[in-house]
Amino acid sequence: MFFKRGPRERVMLERAMEQVESLLRDMQRQGKDLTHLKFKKYQKTHYTSCTCEKCLEARRTKDPHKRGILEDGYKVFLGPGDSKEDAE
Ligand SMILES: [Zn+2]
Repeated sequence: MFFKRGPRERVMLERAMEQVESLLRDMQRQGKDLTHLKFKKYQKTHYTSCTCEKCLEARRTKDPHKRGILEDGYKVFLGPGDSKEDAE
């Protein structure tokens, strides 16, 4: 999902936060242990060989942050020791 900065997107984000918070509260009420629950932002950029407009711009300006985004989102995982996905 792509989020540009703007009032509408802000409202969407705030609504999403409220939903996540209330979901977590519900789970906690049900006696689930959420102590080790963590969120991680992740972004997958295009391959270095990509020739789309954004990637070309990134190469021109030597700024890898400008590369095209393939996936942009959040992963929920368990804290240290429990996550197989945590390979950073
Ligand atoms: Zn690209």
